[in-house]
Amino acid sequence: MRITVVGAGLAGAVAARLLVDAGHQVEVFESRENVGGNCFDEWDRGVLVQRFGPHCFHTDKAEVWEFVNRFATFRDPNFCVVANTQLGVIPIPFNDVSAERVGELSPEEIRDLLFVDYSEKHWGIPWAEIPSSITGRVPKRREGRDCRYHLDRWQGIPTEGFTRMFETMLEGIPVHLGCGEDDWRGAKADHVVFTGSLDDYFRRALGTLEYRSLEFEYATEAKREHFQINECNRVNPWTRAVDHSHWLDQDVEWTVIGREYPCEWDGKNVRMYPKPFGGNPERFRRYWEAAKAEQDVTFVGRLATYKYLDMDDVVAQVMLRLGEGKYPMIDKE
Ligand SMILES: Cc1cc2nc3c(=O)[nH]c(=O)nc-3n(C[C@H](O)[C@H](O)[C@H](O)COP(=O)(O)OP(=O)(O)OC[C@H]3O[C@@H](n4cnc5c(N)ncnc54)[C@H](O)[C@@H]3O)c2cc1C
Repeated sequence: MRITVVGAGLAGAVAARLLVDAGHQVEVFESRENVGGNCFDEWDRGVLVQRFGPHCFHTDKAEVWEFVNRFATFRDPNFCVVANTQLGVIPIPFNDVSAERVGELSPEEIRDLLFVDYSEKHWGIPWAEIPSSITGRVPKRREGRDCRYHLDRWQGIPTEGFTRMFETMLEGIPVHLGCGEDDWRGAKADHVVFTGSLDDYFRRALGTLEYRSLEFEYATEAKREHFQINECNRVNPWTRAVDHSHWLDQDVEWTVIGREYPCEWDGKNVRMYPKPFGGNPERFRRYWEAAKAEQDVTFVGRLATYKYLDMDDVVAQVMLRLGEGKYPMIDKE
């Protein structure tokens, strides 16, 4: 079968690999000039810099971990995050170490200290207007002194970076970069795997799905003790600052610090976070109804399903949709 895959981010690359391994003829069409989507990283001033925000692969799903390990050797970066709050710098999620620094806090105090200002900057609206589907997910008090941000069984980043992992995953598969809409719509195919934004597939016929985006600023600064600092305050306008030399534990005097400034998606910057409020949920529901009626198209990934998905969820989603759909190609054993 001839299959067109739209997008060479995680969803597209995994789909292309699985389909080729199952004997299909696959061509990938990517609008950017590089593979990797939002997991894209590159060397900058001697440091491996993740260009679209910090990405640490973490999972409890054995089959997902096995799959990605076919394409890269992973190292655990010991990913820890601290919050810069009005009470000082403390580990986040709030744990026993945080409590030792600022005293024990109630769930409401933790919410006010760590999440209200941060979320208002992130979403660009007052806390009271952020839907409970988001505010209800605020992490609770964590017991113990383990300061790693994720506690999943497996975590890591590829020792040669995510971009190299994607290149390996796509080895031998034709990938067209810098593509416009006509390129993939014009390609001859029996089936399409679409990983772009669902409204783009339907040429915005039912309106625009909105996203939040991020502007990134990079500076050369002295290496920091902390991997990532979340600005849980109103003083600094950015939400996070990442010292990228920590990914590979690079022993450097000078590093690259990336700062993230939340902003609206304006059609030119990158779609980052689906906005599950305003008219978007209903708009998406109508698009999804239309998507289900498309006979020969599979919609996967965070943009096509208009949902924030961690990387392991994206891999699992692609495995599930392609494996249990029309193309039983994944050996579940
Ligand atoms: C700031 C940030 C930090 C994150 N950190 C983590 C983390 O630490 N751990 C974790 O597990 N997850 C993290 N995630 C989630 C992770 O980024 C996603 O799970 C993953 O990138 C989703 O892959 P995707 O292929 O669905 O989407 P993308 O990575 O967005 O890839 C989609 C690709 O398709 C291309 N494309 C779109 N439309 C078209 C079109 N019409 N034609 C051609 N090409 C098109 C895009 O250019 C892009 O390359 C983070 C997300 C964000 C926003």
